[in-house]
Amino acid sequence: MKLIRGAIVTMNPARRVIENGAVLIDGAEIAAVDDFAKLRALHPDVVVVGSGTDLVAPGYINSHQHLTGDRLIQSSIPDDLPPGDSIFKWSVPVHAQHSGDDDELAATLTLAESLLNGITSTFEAGTVAHPDRVVAAAARVGARLTIGSWGWDFVDGPFAGTPDEVIERQRESLALRDGGLINAWVTLVGHDLMSDELFLRASELAKSEGVGLTFHLSPSTSDTAAYLARTGRAPLVHLNEVGGLGSHVKIAHGVHLDDDEVKIVLESEAAVLACPWAYLRLGQGTSQSFRHLDLWRAGGRLALGCDAENAGDMVDGLRTAALFAGLAKDTTMDPTIFGAVDALDMLTIGGARALGVSSTVGSIEVGKQADLVVHDRTRIEWIPRSDDPVMQLVWGSDGRSVRDVYVAGNQVVRDSEMTSINLADMALEAQEAGRSLRRRAGLPTE
Ligand SMILES: [Zn+2]
Repeated sequence: MKLIRGAIVTMNPARRVIENGAVLIDGAEIAAVDDFAKLRALHPDVVVVGSGTDLVAPGYINSHQHLTGDRLIQSSIPDDLPPGDSIFKWSVPVHAQHSGDDDELAATLTLAESLLNGITSTFEAGTVAHPDRVVAAAARVGARLTIGSWGWDFVDGPFAGTPDEVIERQRESLALRDGGLINAWVTLVGHDLMSDELFLRASELAKSEGVGLTFHLSPSTSDTAAYLARTGRAPLVHLNEVGGLGSHVKIAHGVHLDDDEVKIVLESEAAVLACPWAYLRLGQGTSQSFRHLDLWRAGGRLALGCDAENAGDMVDGLRTAALFAGLAKDTTMDPTIFGAVDALDMLTIGGARALGVSSTVGSIEVGKQADLVVHDRTRIEWIPRSDDPVMQLVWGSDGRSVRDVYVAGNQVVRDSEMTSINLADMALEAQEAGRSLRRRAGLPTE
C-alpha cells in the first residue's frame, strides 16, 4: 500500500477537489481517497509519496492515437500539402514499409511520450502491420492500451483485403486482449474505405465480443463530398440506413456532420472522438463547423484524441483539452460556455464514459484502477498557485509539469523519467529507423 499526497482532483460525480488530500493505493486499485491527515492517522505505517504542493489527477485518456506509421517520421510530413496527400503520399507508403521492429519502436516512443504527459489510457486508431509488436511496446512501458488493426476493403493498400480477410485480422487483434492492461477493439480505416458488408460484419463482431468499433469519418469536407458522390447520401445517413450504428461505435473525428448526422449520432448513442489539433494542423475547418460542441450541448458522448505525430504532433492530453475549450468559446463567441472543468471531464471521466471504460478508469474513486498523474506545482507555471487548481491545470499548464505517473498502481514515470526504459539510449536507434523507413518508402530522407 502507498499513500500519494497532494491536491486531489477526483473528477468524481461531485467533482470534489481535496486540498491537502491523499489517495491510498492497494495493489492495482484505489483503496481510499480523503484528507491526508485522516488517511495518515488510519494508516500510520504506509509509505507516503509526494507532498501537499503536488496535484493528483486521474490518468488522462487519449481516444484516438496512431502508434505506428507516423512516429518514426514525426513532424516530417509537410504542413502545406493538399487534402489527402499526407495520408496517401506519405503515411500509407510508410505504413507499407514498417517492419515489426519499427512498429514496436514507434509504439514505445509514442506511449512513452503519452505517459510522460500523463496519458495512461491510449486507444489505438489502427496498427497497420504488427499489432502484437505494439502490444509488446505497451507491456514494456506499462501503458494501458486498447489495440486495433487497420481494416479496409476498398483500396489496394497495405493489408487491404476482402471482408473475410479483414474480419479474420480483426479477430487476431481481439485475441491479443490479456484481461489486464491490454484491450482491443475493431478498427476500420474509414467510411470511404469500407464496403457496407465490411461495416456490418465489423459492427456485429464488435457487439458479439463486447468491444468498440472505431473508424475515421468526415474529418474534411472532401471526404463527405466523395461519399455523397458514391452513395448519394451523407456518410452517417447512409450507415444508419445500412444498420450497425449503436453505442459500441466510436466515430473518429466527425468534423463535418450535417444536421441529420448530428441527430443520428445522438440517437444511436455513438461516441465521437475529437482530435482538434489535427484539424487545425491539417486545415480541416473545425473552427467553421464545430459540431463537436453541438453534440456536447445535446448530451452526446465525446472523448479527446491526439491523433498522430504528423497531425497535431505532440501527444499531450492537457494541451488538447485546452484547445477544445478554446474552440468552444471562440466559435460560439460565448465565454460562458465549456470551461476548464468540462475540458478536464472530457479528458478523464467523460472520455472514459464515451469509450465504455468508466467503471474502471477516468476518476479517482475507491475501487477504480490506480491510474494517477502527479503534477509538480513547484514549477514556474504553477507559481503562484491559483485557488482553482483545475483552471490552472487546463489553462496554465500542460504535460511538462507531470512528475510521477501510475498505471494500475505501477509507477511508470518517476521524476519525469520513464521507469522502464532509457529514452536517451533509444534516440539514435529511432533516428536511424526513421531514416531507413523513409528511404524504403521512397520519401525524401533529408
Ligand atoms: Zn486517425
